[in-house]
Amino acid sequence: MDVTPLTGQVFRPGQDGYDDEVAGFQLAVATAPAVVVGAETADDVVTAVRFAAAHGLRVSVQATGHGLTAGTEGLLISTRRLAGVEIDAEAGTARVEAGVRWGAVLEAAAKHGLAPLSGSSPDVGVVGYTLSGGFGLMARKYGRAADHVSAIDVVTADGSLRHVEAGSDLFWALRGGRADFGIVTALEVDLVPVTELYGGGLYFDTADIPAVLRAWRTWASSAPDTLTTSLAMIPYPDLPMVPEPLRGKHIAHVRVAYLGDGGDDLVAPLRAAAPALMDTLKRMPFSESGSIAAEPPHPHGYHGTNTTVTQLNDAMLDAIVEHAGPGAEVGTVLIVDRLGGALTRPPEVPGVGWDRQAEFVVRALSVVEAGIEPVRKAHAKLFDALTPWSSGRLLPFVYGEHDPAEVAESVYPADDLRRLRELKREYDPKATFGS
Ligand SMILES: Cc1cc2nc3c(=O)[nH]c(=O)nc-3n(C[C@H](O)[C@H](O)[C@H](O)COP(=O)(O)OP(=O)(O)OC[C@H]3O[C@@H](n4cnc5c(N)ncnc54)[C@H](O)[C@@H]3O)c2cc1C
Repeated sequence: MDVTPLTGQVFRPGQDGYDDEVAGFQLAVATAPAVVVGAETADDVVTAVRFAAAHGLRVSVQATGHGLTAGTEGLLISTRRLAGVEIDAEAGTARVEAGVRWGAVLEAAAKHGLAPLSGSSPDVGVVGYTLSGGFGLMARKYGRAADHVSAIDVVTADGSLRHVEAGSDLFWALRGGRADFGIVTALEVDLVPVTELYGGGLYFDTADIPAVLRAWRTWASSAPDTLTTSLAMIPYPDLPMVPEPLRGKHIAHVRVAYLGDGGDDLVAPLRAAAPALMDTLKRMPFSESGSIAAEPPHPHGYHGTNTTVTQLNDAMLDAIVEHAGPGAEVGTVLIVDRLGGALTRPPEVPGVGWDRQAEFVVRALSVVEAGIEPVRKAHAKLFDALTPWSSGRLLPFVYGEHDPAEVAESVYPADDLRRLRELKREYDPKATFGS
């Protein structure tokens, strides 16, 4: 195999470095690529894609492995060394290379009094998140991250590196179509003038879950656009790494990210709903916003999916507790996010569909211990019960191995899906990319 023009390294099974390069955050999807290219430049990505085309290999890409949905046996492009972040403070934008995680952008942007449209975890990759749509901590005020991309550098299946902007079909398809159309080497994204927020969480005990769910639903339903909030039900293990008040308990965790003043007044109805086991709400620099959800930083195996819904009535809340609460047959982290606000408004430059009518998204995620089947079955009971009110699905919260056609049909509106399929035939006729 002649891959000499590469600046980066090539790893084959059995060689030093191969396992580290393939390892990602998601451990429930087995990947065994025939060759891994550790890209150091955009030209390395071009070389890798051309090499794969010449040898009939399918191409996949990984920055962090947080969003791995299918194993790969062909050529894997590892982007972790593409680590450049450039802030243009005057324009309020960042140019971010493909291997960058949100934490690096949060830090770089904060130095200029700016913030990115990042999500709950600073460890997630900017490109995978944004191409999935990107539901962030300020989503109800600013909309999804994919709608705040101004330019994309992408290597397409013909091995050419293209710079695409508004007006191009590829620009539309990539913002929500994820890796189906090429390997992105860099994105230019908008930043917003935010330095601080009122955020954190309220944690409630098992017995209070039904009352807290109802109080949060009512409170979140009339939330201003400056508030983005979710409620999680989490079965915490009895381990020293878990804060003592939560250890070994199945709790409700209300998460708050609020950009206005008077945060304590705003959350008063929640604090009154039940006594909190822990209350971490406070003003904080936006660069510390990863502490709001405080997600576990350790790689593990997980499987999950979601449904968007047009309302959250009492029957739905009962179904959520029954199928994904403390008594559920498979331990499940259940998260309900309030959508609405700017997420309902069409963006200036359209991108691939997102369920703009939905009011909430209900997501379920379970650690894979005894295989995926018991998890699938347990989640199916929950989502079957919610079917009468389901309106779609959000791509970023589909975790682990799923049928790609079924995911596409639930994630994209029919017109978008038709156009995506036409563009796929045009830009990637041999299906080099995608799952
Ligand atoms: C702990 C955790 C918290 C999360 N929080 C949020 C959240 O708040 N909001 C939200 O919207 N999502 C969230 N997600 C979902 C996350 O956005 C998706 O899983 C996303 O795909 C992860 O991207 P990644 O680059 O980190 O992962 P990777 O596994 O490296 O990539 C995931 C996929 O993204 C695509 N991709 C990655 N790099 C490229 C590239 N250079 N070119 C083309 N395609 C590429 C590929 O399809 C790849 O398989 C979270 C996930 C986890 C595990």
